Amino acid sequence: MKHRRVTFPHMGHIHIALKAMLESIGLEVIVPPPITKRTLSRGIQYSPEFACLPLKINLGNFLEAFDLGANTIVMAGGWGPCRFGYYAQVQREILRDLGCNFELIVLEAPDTKFSAILGQVKELAGNCSWRQIGYAVRLGWEKVKALDALEIRVQQLRPREIRGGQVEAMYREVLNDIDRAANIKQIRAALQEGYSRFQKLILDMEKPVVRIGLVGEIYTVLEPFTNLHIERHLGRLGAEVTRSIYLSQWVNDHLFAGLLRIPSTKTYWNLSVPYINYWVGGHGRETVGGAVYFAQQGYDGVIQIGPLTCMPEIVAQSILPQVSLEQGIPVLTLYFDEHSGEAGLLTRLEAFVDLVRRRKKREKKARPKSQPVPIW
Ligand code: SF4
Repeated sequence: MKHRRVTFPHMGHIHIALKAMLESIGLEVIVPPPITKRTLSRGIQYSPEFACLPLKINLGNFLEAFDLGANTIVMAGGWGPCRFGYYAQVQREILRDLGCNFELIVLEAPDTKFSAILGQVKELAGNCSWRQIGYAVRLGWEKVKALDALEIRVQQLRPREIRGGQVEAMYREVLNDIDRAANIKQIRAALQEGYSRFQKLILDMEKPVVRIGLVGEIYTVLEPFTNLHIERHLGRLGAEVTRSIYLSQWVNDHLFAGLLRIPSTKTYWNLSVPYINYWVGGHGRETVGGAVYFAQQGYDGVIQIGPLTCMPEIVAQSILPQVSLEQGIPVLTLYFDEHSGEAGLLTRLEAFVDLVRRRKKREKKARPKSQPVPIW
C-alpha cells in the first residue's frame, strides 16, 4: 500500500482539528499553506469561470499541497439543487488534467450516514483499531469545540477593546496553543489559559455596541479570507458579531448526523416558515431562519454573505426583504468573488453600522422594540 500524505481544503480553522485527528491515526498530514492571493489565482487559473468561489480557493489549496508532496485529499461531499454535489468530481477532473496524481477520498453523503463516514475513516486509517479511531474523533471534536468557544469570546471582545489589535494578537497566540495541544487535557488547558489572558486586557465593557447577526453560505461565513475578514472589520466599527453557524454545528449536523447535543442549525428551519418551506440547497433556508432568529433575539441588524452566483443565497436574498419588513430588522447582503476588495467592503459596512446605530438610538427614545420598522 502506498504511503499516504493527506491534505484537505481550508475552511476557517478546521485544519487545526483535522490535522490533530488524522495524525492521531498515524497519517502523515500536509496542511495546505494559509490561503493567500496566490492560492486564489492558482485556483482561478484552472477552474471554470462560473464555478463557485470556494471551489476555486480549494483547488488552489490542493495545488499548493501537491507542491509540498501531498498525494491524498480528504474532503466532504454533498448533494442537492446547487453545485456542491459536483465539486469533488470537477476538482478530480481538473487535477487529473493537470497531472496531479491525487487519491481523492470524498466523505460522501453527510447528514445521514455517520456509520458510512466512520467506515471511510477506518479505511483511511489502515491498521488502526476502532478504539484509536474513536479517540482521534474525540480529539478532533475537542479542538473544534475549543476553536468555537475561542471565536465566540473574540467576537464579544473585539468591539470593546481600547487599544486596537490587542484582541487579534492574543487570539492568534491562543489559536497556536490549541493547535499545539497534543491531548484533550492540554486543549482544555489552552482554552482556559486563553480566557485568563483575555481577562488581563484593558477593555471598555460599558461601551455601547451594536449586535449584528452574520448569516449566509457556510464557507463564506467561516473562512475569513473569503469574506475579507468581515468580523474583524465589524469589530473595529463597534459591532459584536454572532454567526448563524459555527464549525462545531456544521461538523455535528453534516458529519456526525446531528448525534451530539449541541444547538443545531436545523432549528432555523422552523423559524424560516412561512417565508420558505422547502430546501433550496446549501444554507439558503438557514439564512432566512437565521435572520428571523436574530430579529427575535433583539439584534440590531443582519448581514447576509455568500459567493457571487451562489444559488441558495440568491433565493434567500429574494426573501430577506420580507423578513426585514415583518421582523423589523435591517438586512444587508454582500457577495464576494475574486474581484472583491476590502476598501469597497469597508465603505458598505461603515454605512450599515452607522444606520443600525442611529436606528437603535432612535428606537430607544421613541418606541417599543417589538414594533416592525420598514427599512426596505
Ligand atoms: S452553496 Fe453556493 S457556493 Fe456552495 S456550492 Fe452551492 S451554489 Fe456554490
